[in-house]
Amino acid sequence: MLNAKQVMYEKLGESVVKALKMRHFEAHYCLTKKEALNKVFDLIPDSDVVSWGGSKTLVEVGIIEELKARNYTVLDRDAETDPVKKQEIARKALLSDTYLMSSNAITMDGQLYNIDGNGNRLGALVFGPKSVIIVAGMNKVVKSIEDAEARVRNYAAPMNAQRFKGLNTPCQLNGSCADCISEKSICAQMVRTRICRPEGRIKVILVGEDLGM
Ligand code: SF4
Repeated sequence: MLNAKQVMYEKLGESVVKALKMRHFEAHYCLTKKEALNKVFDLIPDSDVVSWGGSKTLVEVGIIEELKARNYTVLDRDAETDPVKKQEIARKALLSDTYLMSSNAITMDGQLYNIDGNGNRLGALVFGPKSVIIVAGMNKVVKSIEDAEARVRNYAAPMNAQRFKGLNTPCQLNGSCADCISEKSICAQMVRTRICRPEGRIKVILVGEDLGM
């Protein structure tokens, strides 16, 4: 039996899926992380070269672990310690077959909103990989683009900033955004994806649980 939050998420999730489809995304709603994990692997052919952007959600759903267990050919920059080689893998990932990531926010009318420091994750979202799969908890759904930016600047980025050493951005030091122009800003790129073009290239899997930041 579903609890009240699951019921609310399911109702909202179905309407966001409909809105995403209107904007030419492929979209699915999964009640649980387990269901989402199965859906992700339904969407990745065995022969694909797969890569991903840094994401707590992908780890929480168990996707990275499963990718390695299933012996996909992966481009994993986290497995590399040498910064030059890491950068090379990030560049190659832009031509992977399938790229996995989450989204910092998704609006109720079916738009994606994301920020990025180096831009490798958003580069792949915009162009390059044949297929992009986005996995996001329902906690990422917001009403409008204005709410998406507010969520990202005032919550997700300050939280995310705590994961990195020595950023010294206002969000890391004080826990709130000051619209900085630091060279280490994790919001160098701010991208709104209004529609999916070509149709179906970006697949969004909404999960009826709170995931990531
Ligand atoms: S603009 Fe600067 S202070 Fe604001 S969230 Fe981004 S990195 Fe942090």
